[in-house]
Amino acid sequence: MIELKSAEEIRRMAVTGQFVGELLAELSGVAAVGVNLMDIEHHARRRIKERGAQSCYWDYAPSFGRGPFRNVLCLSVNDAVLHGLPHDYVLADGDLLSIDMAVGIDGWVADSALSFVVGTPDPADLKLIEATEVALAAAIAAAQPGGRLGDVSNAIGEVARSYGYGVNGEFGGHGIGRTMHESPHVSNDGRAGRGMRLEPGLTIAIEPWLCQSTDKIMYDRDGWTIRSADGSRTAHSEHTVAITESGPQVLTLRPTSGASSAATSAEKPAATS
Ligand code: MG
Ligand code: MG
Repeated sequence: MIELKSAEEIRRMAVTGQFVGELLAELSGVAAVGVNLMDIEHHARRRIKERGAQSCYWDYAPSFGRGPFRNVLCLSVNDAVLHGLPHDYVLADGDLLSIDMAVGIDGWVADSALSFVVGTPDPADLKLIEATEVALAAAIAAAQPGGRLGDVSNAIGEVARSYGYGVNGEFGGHGIGRTMHESPHVSNDGRAGRGMRLEPGLTIAIEPWLCQSTDKIMYDRDGWTIRSADGSRTAHSEHTVAITESGPQVLTLRPTSGASSAATSAEKPAATS
């Protein structure tokens, strides 16, 4: 069942989304060459607790994972692309890190992810990251009231192909609101003009992810971390988006500086697109 949210419910999701956006920006400032992934995880745990938010990942136990997830972040390095399990690893120069986070505040959830390189970037990695960001922007632009879900999926697939990357259809975006994963599934490829009608009040997480030279994936022995099947680099970008009468509204916008933000700014009204 798909639950359309009221304007007030979207406003409450935007409060959560602002926190998620600000914390992701802060974490991208914490991540650096020589920093352990667990330090990033513990920084996030502390900030989530301070805010009175609840991690959607903690104790998450889907069919594919091995035991409940006991972290608040997915930290995926280099060939790891989704569900990267935080572990004792010190970031090295040129590592490509994806941070994915979903939390709830007062019962309303937001989910967002970003990818970036610590230290000296390989231009090929920057191109891969850019492709996921351009695909995400195109998909958001396509999330117009009166359109179709296939418009969103198609926008992602078209951008991926224009960059020369393949698309894996096994994991994609999803409805979101009271819980992290709701209907509908938002595929990362599809046909424009097809699929369910995009109605005002629909809230979805859109999350293109790409591997450099394959569209195949493999699972780590930890049962969580998903990697490119050929060991090539990967990237992932995600925002939580509401379809409103006036168009798509990004609920997880990040401060553009990428630097840490003051905790007090979490109380400001959410920005709209
Ligand atoms: Mg996510
Ligand atoms: Mg998601």
